Formats: sequence, C-alpha cells, structure tokens
Amino acid sequence: MPINLLYHDVTAAGADDASGFAGPEAARYKLTSEDFRCHLDRIANAATQQPVAVADGLPANESSWTITFDDGGLSNATIIADELERRHWRGWFFIATDFIGSPTFCSKEQLRDLHQRGHLIGSHSCSHPERISNCSAAQLLDEWTRSCAVLADIIGQPVTTGSVPGGFYSTAVAQAASQAGIKLLFNSEPTTSEFTVEGCRILGRYNIYRGMTADDATALLTSPVRRWRQAAFWMAKKAAKSVAGPLYKAVRKRLLQQAYAQ
Ligand SMILES: [Zn+2]
Repeated sequence: MPINLLYHDVTAAGADDASGFAGPEAARYKLTSEDFRCHLDRIANAATQQPVAVADGLPANESSWTITFDDGGLSNATIIADELERRHWRGWFFIATDFIGSPTFCSKEQLRDLHQRGHLIGSHSCSHPERISNCSAAQLLDEWTRSCAVLADIIGQPVTTGSVPGGFYSTAVAQAASQAGIKLLFNSEPTTSEFTVEGCRILGRYNIYRGMTADDATALLTSPVRRWRQAAFWMAKKAAKSVAGPLYKAVRKRLLQQAYAQ
C-alpha cells in the first residue's frame, strides 16, 4: 500500500494567513518555507523512489509514496510546486473549488498551469463544509459533482480523484464521491490499508503538522513504528472526541486562540 503524506499550505514565517484558510485552526497545518524545504531535502535523502503522481495505477506497495496538499491555497502555485519540481517530483493538489480565485487561493490559471506541469488536480469539495460527514446525501453528491465539474472545465480533462475536507470521512461521503465519478479518495486516517466503496479506492494519509521536524516527517515514510504512533494518537483523539464531544471542541478552540494570539 502506498504511504501518503498530507500537507497543507506553506507560508513565510509570521504570515500564516497569506495562503489558504485564515485563522489558528488552519495555521496548525501550515509550514514555513524553510521548514518545508528542510522536510523535502530530508525525505529526498531517505526515500528510495520518487513520489507517485498518477491516479491510474497508483501502486499498491509499501515502497511507493505520494505527497498531497489540501485546500488549494495560493502557496500551491507560488511555493510548493517549484520546490517539488526542483527535486523532479510532482504532487497531488486537492482544491476546494468555491475559493478558487479568492485572494489567498489559487486562480483558475494557476491550477491549469499546475496541471500542465504534471501535478495532479483533484477535488476537495466545493465549500469545504465544517463537517462534511453531517451533510445530506444530496448535499454530498452536489459537493463532489460540482467541484469535479469546475476542475474538469479548468484542466480540460475529467477529475477522478478527491480528498475529504477536515478528514470527516464516512461511508456516505465515499458513496457520493463514487457516484460523482471519483475513483480514488484520500481521507486523513493515518493508515496504509486501503479498501473500496462502490468501486472507489479509499486511501489514508499521514498528517504533517506545523513544527513537525524533518526527521519526524521522513520517519513517516521509513518507520512503521513512527506510523503506528501517529495512528495510535489519532485513535486516542477520536475516542476523546466521541466521549467529550462539544466540550473537547470548545476547549481546543480556546487553547488554539490563546496560542495564536501570543
Ligand atoms: Zn481542507
């Protein structure tokens, strides 16, 4: 099974809101340009092969890996793609289409350019719902169908890959994606196992957070123990959320705001 890394935006130090969604919640997943370059250098030294960037025939073995980016922030076009290409790599960019062309997100022209340079463009829904797993079946189908159509129109070919916003995966989310023509859907579950829902391949990804060291990010590719640790942490968080529910969310939000204000 491939190992899939999940990045978001890359911004200059102190300019978190320059790309992608604004605010402390989104900033937790943004890396500085220096950190990002450091990650890529370290990964390039350790990886035995280049990241895969073809949707058809994404190999199902453990030495293959992908590097994915969610949301469609401006930094995809202004920083990330150049850094990948410097290493002869290509990435997977998942775009929340309602934000295309707004100030901190990629424009249509930038997305077309990324596609022409060999990067993969996929859907990350239209509106990036706060919790997509709470949407009705009709809403889900609309989110996937319209976003794929918008992107297909931009890149001039069908869009058959997607990633689940916020990591709020559910079977209904996958069923709707499959009905919209998505053949390969990434969620944010830190796992190398995959399965299919109505013919759509569902793959997990390992999250990269702000402040994660280059060694740590590289270890996600090279060390089953490190991957297991992220999976264990994810399971614990999931359990805490289901027990504490809204309380967990409120406390976490307040802590984040405090950290961001400092
Ligand atoms: Zn997202």
